[in-house]
Amino acid sequence: MTKAPITVAYGDGIGPEIMRATLHVLQSAGAQLDIECYEIGEKVYLSGNSSGIEPALWESLHRTKVFLKGPITTPQGGGFKSLNVTMRRALGLYANIRPTIAYHPFVATKHPQMDVVIIRENEEDVYAGIEHRQSHDIVSCTKLISRSGSERIIRYAFEYARAHDRKKVSCFTKDNILKMTDGLFHQVFQEIAPQYPDLEHEHWIVDIGAALLADTPEIFDVIVLPNLYGDILSDVAAQIAGSVGLAGSSNIGANAAMFEAVHGSAPRLANQNIANPSALLLGGVLMLLHLGQFEVAQKVHNAWLRTLEDGIHTADIFNPTVSQEKVGTQEFASAVIDRLGEEPIQLKAVRYKKEKIVSHQPIPFHHSQEKKELVGADVFLQFNQSLEDLIIALECCIDTNDGMTLEMIDNRGMIVWPQKRPGIFLSDSFRARFRIPTTTVQKVTHHQVINLLERLSSQGLEFLNVELLYNFDGKPGFTQGQGA
Ligand code: NAD
Repeated sequence: MTKAPITVAYGDGIGPEIMRATLHVLQSAGAQLDIECYEIGEKVYLSGNSSGIEPALWESLHRTKVFLKGPITTPQGGGFKSLNVTMRRALGLYANIRPTIAYHPFVATKHPQMDVVIIRENEEDVYAGIEHRQSHDIVSCTKLISRSGSERIIRYAFEYARAHDRKKVSCFTKDNILKMTDGLFHQVFQEIAPQYPDLEHEHWIVDIGAALLADTPEIFDVIVLPNLYGDILSDVAAQIAGSVGLAGSSNIGANAAMFEAVHGSAPRLANQNIANPSALLLGGVLMLLHLGQFEVAQKVHNAWLRTLEDGIHTADIFNPTVSQEKVGTQEFASAVIDRLGEEPIQLKAVRYKKEKIVSHQPIPFHHSQEKKELVGADVFLQFNQSLEDLIIALECCIDTNDGMTLEMIDNRGMIVWPQKRPGIFLSDSFRARFRIPTTTVQKVTHHQVINLLERLSSQGLEFLNVELLYNFDGKPGFTQGQGA
C-alpha cells in the first residue's frame, strides 16, 4: 500500500505527549503514513502570527488534505484569532463528527448504554464571529444559517447514519424562538428526512433535547445540530459517556479533513506523562478510516478496547474497583501496542468494512425562483433622550411620497411604540421600522431608503445599522417585534 501523505501538528500543553503516543501506536499497527510535521498554536501566536498557523502548514495541507492536529492553547488577551475556527473555515470543514460511547463497566459512567454520534455544523451560526458594539450599552452578534449549509450537514448526517447502520437521526434547534434561522435548519431537516425512509427522524427543541441527552442518552443515535448547540452538547455528550479524554473527532470537508481530540491542551497536565492519549488515538482511527486503511483502523481500535478492558488505565479514568494498573501516557500507548491483533471480550469489538464513503459534494448556491421585493427598512438608532422625543423626531422623517410609514419602535426586540410599556427599562439603542403598508402594492427603492437615512441624519438622529426588509413571494423575510 502506498503511504498516505498527512500533515501533523503536535500542538500545545499535553499535545506533544499524546501525539507521540498516538503516532507510536498507529505506526506500530502498520498505518501507511507519510508524515509532514509543522508547528502550530501558542509558539506561532507568540511569534507575532495572530492566526497561530505558519504559512508552511497551509502549503502542506494543500498538498496532503489530511490533518492530524494536537490540541492547542489559545493565548489569553485580545488580537488572537481562534485557530480552530480559522482552520475549519479555510479548509471548508463543514461537518464535525464526534462519536461518544460508554465503555461500561471499565470506565465509570451513569449511562452504560450510551452510543451517540453528534454531527455538528461547523461553519455557520454565530461562529461567523460577526459582532459589533452598536452603542454605549449594546453589543450585537449576527447569526447566519444558510439553506445550502443546512442541506449539506443534514444530508451528511443521514448519509452517515445509513453508512454506519444507525437507526435514527435527531435534530435539535431553538426554532420556537429563532423562527427564521433555526426555523430554516429545522425546515430543511423535515424536507430531507423523507428521502431516507429507512431511518427514523425526530426534532427536539434544544433545551429539552439537551436535558434528555444528559438524562437518557441511550434514546439517541445520531444527532445533527447547528454550530453553537453542537459545540456545547458534543462536550456534554463526551463527558457523560465517561471522559472528554476518550472522545476523538473528525472535521470533514469536500476537499480536506482534520482529525483531533475533543478536549483541549490541558496545560496543568503537560510534561508529566499523565494525560490520556485515547481521544487523539481515536481521532487517528477516524483518520485511518478516512484514508481507507480499514484493517489498521480496526486493529488499533480493538487493541485499544482490549487495553481498557484489561484495566490498564491513565489517571483520569483510573478507578480502583475496575482498574488493574495506573499507567502514564507512553505506557498506555505501549499497552495498546502489546495488544495489537487482540480483540475485546466483553466490550463490542469494532468491524470496519469498506463502507460507502459519505457524500459531501458542496451543494451549489441555491438558485431560488422566489420573487424578492424591498418593502422597508429597520433602522437602529442610538438615542439617549425620552421615547416621546424619539417618536417626534422619527415622525418628522416620514415622507408620504415614498409610502413608508413608521410601523413600530422597539428596544432590544420589545415593541415600545405604538404599544406602550410604562416602566419598561430602555437601553440606548432603538430599532425603528419603516415599511410600506401591507395593503399596498407599492415597493420601496434603495434610493428611498438612502433618502430616509439622510432625513434621519438631518434630524440629528444617530443611526447605527440598517437592515433592509424584503418580502419573498409576498411573504415577509423578517420577524415581527416582540409584543406586537
Ligand atoms: P481541556 O479540555 O484542556 O481540559 C478540561 C479538563 O479535562 C481538565 O480538567 C483537564 O485536565 C482534563 N483533560 C483534558 N484532556 C485530558 C486528557 N487527554 N487526559 C486527561 N485529562 C484531560 O479544556 P480547558 O482547560 O478549558 O482548555 C485548555 C486550553 O485548551 C485552552 O487554551 C483552550 O482554549 C484550549 N482548547 C483547545 C481545543 C482544541 O485545540 N481543539 C479544544 C478545547 C480547548
